[in-house]
Amino acid sequence: MTMIPPGSTIGIIGGGQLGRMSALAAAELGYKVHIYTPEIDSPASHVASKVTVASYTDEKALKAFARSVDVVTFEFENIPVEGIKFLADIVPVRPNPRTLYIAQHRKREKEFAASAGIQTAPFTIVKNAKELEAAFRSLGVVRGILKTLEMGYDGKGQRRVNQGDDYADIWADTGFEEAIFEGFIEFEKEISVIVARGLDGNVSTFPPAENTHVNGILDTSKVPSRIAERTSVAARAAAHKLADALDIVGLLAVEFFVLKEGSVVFNEMAPRPHNSGHWTMDGCVTSQFDQFIRAVCGLPLGSVRRHSDVVMKNLIGHDYNNWQDILAKDPHAKVHLYGKREVREGRKMGHVNYVSNLTLD
Ligand code: AMP
Repeated sequence: MTMIPPGSTIGIIGGGQLGRMSALAAAELGYKVHIYTPEIDSPASHVASKVTVASYTDEKALKAFARSVDVVTFEFENIPVEGIKFLADIVPVRPNPRTLYIAQHRKREKEFAASAGIQTAPFTIVKNAKELEAAFRSLGVVRGILKTLEMGYDGKGQRRVNQGDDYADIWADTGFEEAIFEGFIEFEKEISVIVARGLDGNVSTFPPAENTHVNGILDTSKVPSRIAERTSVAARAAAHKLADALDIVGLLAVEFFVLKEGSVVFNEMAPRPHNSGHWTMDGCVTSQFDQFIRAVCGLPLGSVRRHSDVVMKNLIGHDYNNWQDILAKDPHAKVHLYGKREVREGRKMGHVNYVSNLTLD
């Protein structure tokens, strides 16, 4: 296990905004970044020193990429596991391939959390309408959500179902061959915790953010989150436990439902920087992107102390058109735009960190 010193090149799989902000943080620490993405003109490509545009299954391109970098990491975990193993034979891959294998599949992910002793929603796998009907009985629920096993994000590939609905109709409509069916959690709040784990096994956990979603897409993340201290402790401890159990080097973002009495239920995790951690860019001594680069390169982790209150607001689709207003109206609004040329409905175009309660000279 080696430390990757400044001056080296970090290979990042994925070219989205997470890769872009990671590359900017890498540059601050003196690293170069090589992005691997199938997308032309990707957000990360604008700030990287090198870009490979190729498919995630192109072994020749993957091999050349792996040989041109000192370490490989991911801003997007849905690359076929064979491709990840292929890279790992040539160059250190952090987080490890097993972590990606678990996190890219909802059943494996939930089973893993449950095996670590962390509460999840009740769930089962269904393959047809009859099994969906039976699932209500076996789980003992009256409402639930059908979710695609892989490649689901931003509420895509999800469908809510109530007991007594026309299961055949719903099943046909989803087009799923196989899906996970989860009992619906009547939560009070949603929070997320981002934990960083270094090469030496040291762990640091960012303060939990309180998240709201609109149409299945993250809308706002707020810190401090309005939760009981014991809820915060439980969420941070669960994220820490998962990071250790995965033996992860890098970041792990874990989303939880908070129940009325204050306990937490695991929803999902991502082994990379996360949208709900964007507040750290303007609210913490070390941002999630700085911490990500430090962890992946085997550097000491930075302080995750929060110095300001922050409301992070995503700019989704046409929200982007207000950028001038946002800049003009509030000098404490820190605007981050991702350089995406085309505005599309539901597309994450940028975010704003509304900073308050900061110490000013
Ligand atoms: P996911 O992509 O699994 O994070 O789901 C997106 C959003 O759907 C979550 O942030 C919740 O707001 C909602 N959701 C997902 N699963 C459940 C569940 N089992 N019970 C209640 N709400 C859920």
